[in-house]
Amino acid sequence: MTNDLIPATRADALIALHDFIEGPVLHYARLRNHIAERHTHVSRLSAAIAHRLVTEAEVLCAVLRLHKSTTVEKFVQEVVWRSYWKGWLELHPGVWRDFADAASVGGSIAERLQEGQSGCAAMDACASELVSTGYLHNHARMWWASFWIHRAGLPWKAGARFFFDHLLDADAASNTLSWRWVAGLQTPGKTYLVRRSNLDSYWPDAPSEGLEHLEGEPPLNIPQDSADWSLRGMENLPEAPGDSAAGFLLHEEDLSLECGPLSQFQPVVACFWKTPARSSIRAAWLNRAAGDARTRAENHFQKNVTEIQAMDSLKDWVKTHDLQRIVMAAPSVGPVRDSLEPFLQWCGECGIVVTRFRRRWDARVFPLAKAGFFPFWNSVRPQLPELIL
Ligand SMILES: Cc1cc2nc3c(=O)[nH]c(=O)nc-3n(C[C@H](O)[C@H](O)[C@H](O)COP(=O)(O)OP(=O)(O)OC[C@H]3O[C@@H](n4cnc5c(N)ncnc54)[C@H](O)[C@@H]3O)c2cc1C
Repeated sequence: MTNDLIPATRADALIALHDFIEGPVLHYARLRNHIAERHTHVSRLSAAIAHRLVTEAEVLCAVLRLHKSTTVEKFVQEVVWRSYWKGWLELHPGVWRDFADAASVGGSIAERLQEGQSGCAAMDACASELVSTGYLHNHARMWWASFWIHRAGLPWKAGARFFFDHLLDADAASNTLSWRWVAGLQTPGKTYLVRRSNLDSYWPDAPSEGLEHLEGEPPLNIPQDSADWSLRGMENLPEAPGDSAAGFLLHEEDLSLECGPLSQFQPVVACFWKTPARSSIRAAWLNRAAGDARTRAENHFQKNVTEIQAMDSLKDWVKTHDLQRIVMAAPSVGPVRDSLEPFLQWCGECGIVVTRFRRRWDARVFPLAKAGFFPFWNSVRPQLPELIL
């Protein structure tokens, strides 16, 4: 599969969304777990959603406008899963720190798996697809993660780091918490073991060499959790930025700022904060997506959007324009927030006000992710008509 299936601009993401909801979504509940050539049973929108080339609200609004909610419930639920994980991590930020601060673990077995030399050709095809395209089907992610943890006996954080570095949709919440779920940490008593019978059913064309490595029931490699993660209160942030003069800071987590609460905003100046990509395929995709976002923002706000990638240059941007106020979409728990933390602290020390706002969807649903997914879903579902407006 090549990256022509993973849209990197808002225009392409909207086309992909409409193509998907006009046909494949109707078979999604039945076929989504099957591996098909070019992954036509699933939307492949995750990178676009993760970076907000399109928002969750836009995706759900489009699909629910076209179909009865009962017909497309499974797809709607999956989009809501993403927000569940994000809300859960906002409320348990220590889980991200525990992963992000872990020392990287190498070793020859880990390297062989990442390089596609595990001895199981199906797992190797997954590793190779991930590295060469930046995408992997959800079922393949589960299989590969499980193979890494439970059949190869490797530490989950090292595998999660490999995914995080290569996925175009790399998301601190979905990735960390899905790996924890496969490992048996996220939902007590639940873990996931990859089995040959499952590949036979959902990926009948899988290369057969070494499939015997997926047979038998090995003792599961369930790790000890590093701490008893307690629930944190979530910062109460505004849903709109207010209207006084301010500098405007864009970043990779929200690449459609001209749509939504900022559309009427008139920034004095604007910049794009660029964080380093962790693989060449991701760097290329992000450059394209960020370039598209900058062009749209420049056209809409009628301001040049300067690209900045060093902390000192960001501070110089503030000083040069004598900014007293900065507006930005609130970055979620994860690397963009981590990278901006020193800047926010510096702004605080200089008396510069930084207004971080959350889109209505995030502001309303994140606080509901206190327990398991189904209580969350039951709270979100009745609010959907209002949330996706
Ligand atoms: C080990 C592992 C790691 C993962 N890492 C990431 C990650 O870094 N970033 C990421 O966005 N997703 C991650 N996922 C979730 C899921 O695999 C992807 O979101 C999905 O495969 C994306 O493909 P799609 O857009 O074609 O999905 P579709 O099936 O078309 O689903 C539509 C949308 O719903 C959301 N979604 C679907 N399944 C899930 C799920 N299980 N959890 C959360 N959201 C979901 C995505 O935003 C997706 O675009 C991971 C899953 C596993 C098992």
